[in-house]
Amino acid sequence: MRTPWERFEQETLANLQALIRLDTTNPPGNERRAADFIAQILIAAPIETMIIEPKPKRANLIARFPGSDRGKSPLMLSSHTDVVPVEPAHWTRSPFGGEIADGCIWGRGAIDMKAKCAMDLGVMLALKRAGITPERDLILAAVADEEAGSELGARFLVEQHPDLVRACFVLIETGGFTLFIGERRYYPIQVAEKGFVTVRMTVSGAPGHGSMPRTDTAIGWMAELITRIGRTPMRRRVTPLMRRVLDDLGIAPEKAPPLFRPIKRRRFFARCSVIRSRPRSCAPATRTT
Ligand SMILES: [Zn+2]
Repeated sequence: MRTPWERFEQETLANLQALIRLDTTNPPGNERRAADFIAQILIAAPIETMIIEPKPKRANLIARFPGSDRGKSPLMLSSHTDVVPVEPAHWTRSPFGGEIADGCIWGRGAIDMKAKCAMDLGVMLALKRAGITPERDLILAAVADEEAGSELGARFLVEQHPDLVRACFVLIETGGFTLFIGERRYYPIQVAEKGFVTVRMTVSGAPGHGSMPRTDTAIGWMAELITRIGRTPMRRRVTPLMRRVLDDLGIAPEKAPPLFRPIKRRRFFARCSVIRSRPRSCAPATRTT
């Protein structure tokens, strides 16, 4: 059966608008709203669907479309239903309006990542309606809490319900994104994660009273240290994987476009503790966080 793509587009767009209109700002999350919306569409299809809540209103939705060979590891379509907070005063259109204007759909989550969520839903429906049985199971996961650590979403599912989400390939928000390098279009496949460095620093200095300001305080030294670290470029390291990507794209490592620069360097995070100044003669600095 042929898929009526015009209907697919209209339906997916309408589902995206509906998802944007459900405020799932995290915190507090309230992803149950989105999970219920997606679930009622999948169940009507009908496609096997379940909602799992590690905490009230923090819902994860898992749907499974059975393939012909159950021995093959599934393919997963993964999205998250929460969005980051908004400052409505800085928006030119309603962040939860899902309005279509100027050739765009407007709203929090339109890109990150209710669009993918609506597309995944559309794919499941299209397969079902076309009567297609894929070779392997197809799993749709629309999870909670991605924007605030994934504790109640992906991590919860992997740790508490691994059998529901075990898959050999996952299509996520950065895979499938159209990427333009020069005039050419690419669809990236993620095979690794960037690393980062955390620096924990403890600085001590002489104590003093506010009425007698001094220049050699622990806070002052720490500020200087952070500035120095921030201004020192991290060592560049082109891993074999990175080299292969650049080779395939025909880009010399030193000529890599801005998009690739952060991938070649580690990211730096300073975990700064507030240090209480102490007399020089005292034993270890007291750190309060
Ligand atoms: Zn995201």
